[in-house]
Amino acid sequence: MKIIDKLIAPIDKKLERFDPLWQAEHGVGGLRSRYYDKTGVAKWREWRGVKDTLFDYVSWINNILSMVQMVASAPIPVMKGFWEYRWMGSYLGTFMFIDRLFEGYRGTELRIAHMNMHGIVQSLTKKIAFGLKNDGRLGGGKDTFNIVPHDETITPLFLKGFKGLYPFPLQTLPEFIICDIDQHIEPYYIDVAESFGLPADVCSRCAAETGVALDDAFPLVGKVMLSTNMPCNASEATSMFQRRRIAKPDFPITLAMQHNEPEALPYSRQVLKDAMAFVEEHYGVKYDWDEFFKYAKLINEQNTIELEKWDYFKTPYSPLSGVAESLYRLYEWQSVNGQEPYFNKVDRKVIKIMRKAYEEKYLPFGGKTRHRAFLWGPSAVYYTDFPTWTQNCWGITIVLNMDSTMGFNMINTEDPELAMDDLTRFTEKACMRHHAVGGWDNINALWDWAKEFNCDMILFNDNIACKGMLGTHALMEEQARDLGFHFIFVEHDLQDSRTVSRQDMRNCVNNYMSVVLGEKPLDPTIVEFDDAEAY
Ligand code: SF4
Repeated sequence: MKIIDKLIAPIDKKLERFDPLWQAEHGVGGLRSRYYDKTGVAKWREWRGVKDTLFDYVSWINNILSMVQMVASAPIPVMKGFWEYRWMGSYLGTFMFIDRLFEGYRGTELRIAHMNMHGIVQSLTKKIAFGLKNDGRLGGGKDTFNIVPHDETITPLFLKGFKGLYPFPLQTLPEFIICDIDQHIEPYYIDVAESFGLPADVCSRCAAETGVALDDAFPLVGKVMLSTNMPCNASEATSMFQRRRIAKPDFPITLAMQHNEPEALPYSRQVLKDAMAFVEEHYGVKYDWDEFFKYAKLINEQNTIELEKWDYFKTPYSPLSGVAESLYRLYEWQSVNGQEPYFNKVDRKVIKIMRKAYEEKYLPFGGKTRHRAFLWGPSAVYYTDFPTWTQNCWGITIVLNMDSTMGFNMINTEDPELAMDDLTRFTEKACMRHHAVGGWDNINALWDWAKEFNCDMILFNDNIACKGMLGTHALMEEQARDLGFHFIFVEHDLQDSRTVSRQDMRNCVNNYMSVVLGEKPLDPTIVEFDDAEAY
């Protein structure tokens, strides 16, 4: 390897003027220079030096192969899916999305980022093919009635005890994931919901889901629907709209809101047991604990590795951070949830690289990190590639996002009664319930997380339509002042980029960094730019 490095060093030197990071450093351009104005369309691919550019190309081809496999495994349903569902077209933006997410990434951080991202791409493409192949709207398939559709915020792990059945998070494809890739897709569904009379000031995630239901854009699968009150009351209302429109027998998994209270456990546990009994009754399949334990072991391993990763996150030597960390953890935990061994393989490889990086005292991002931030932010930080931008523009590394802190308790893999307790605790700590609702201590935990991970800064998302969180605004500001953190509220309207644009969100950070801290950007081309028309 050393010989190859020596051979390509003069080529890298000769071509370094094409590298946007070098251009920004020398005041002759930067990361935004290669884009057409207002768009996310680049005129050429990012030059990262010979090795990294080649690696990036290979990863790009790898992702294309997953897409090809998706189409080849179900050509007609996929074609029909493009015809039937508006959200299918948005998946074509995936490549642009990934390119943007890893701008400025080099070396080890680029390798880990692509490993994680390919895990998501290969899983998601299989899910899309499987969903469309069995979609009743498109003619159905052999597994249409072996699928158990459930709300995306209910973790699918507990359903793995039903051999031969397939848990399917219904909103994930048309809403939960795709809103991260294409900022223009959910506003359409939000408008559909509002044209049916839904008030315009509700949470845009809930409005978008409602719009998808009213637009008949959910795949029609399964015999029943498992809805939920997770994460919040706005989401509960969404479940009701979806129940009416989808019109299948429905079991609402209403877990205790104040789930940190020990008294809540027996209640939530019983609700989960009732949900299992409901599935047994409608599908005629008995719950098999040994089958469940197989998958619980996979999630236990994923969580064990995750906890080890956290030790490295606390140091300056972690090549895994930002979007490569948080989007992967969100998908791995909430959607994969122990069901796909591929993710265990990725985790094992990544942790090895992280151990080595720590031993070698590897400083990621060319040692340009100036601040370590804890991010308390949902979907809006993905379609804006926000963590990547904070790193490239201001040297703010997002050490950990709130999405990474979901259920990390281990699950007993021998005794069904003990497993049931662990499973309940684990299920309650899902996306948004764990951080935004469910008691003050969930939100207040932010300070401990930030301290424990040696962060000097907190980026706190200010979702203008999340009613619960709006109530905490002034309290958080007061505490930040008392505790001495740099604290930035990042306004957004979650899945509706029309209300608060990407640039509006970036300006929240720009203003703090330039006015309060008086710092200069690492790359002036990405301080203020118009990408309103980008995916
Ligand atoms: S953003 Fe707030 S209102 Fe919307 S689903 Fe999440 S917790 Fe509920």
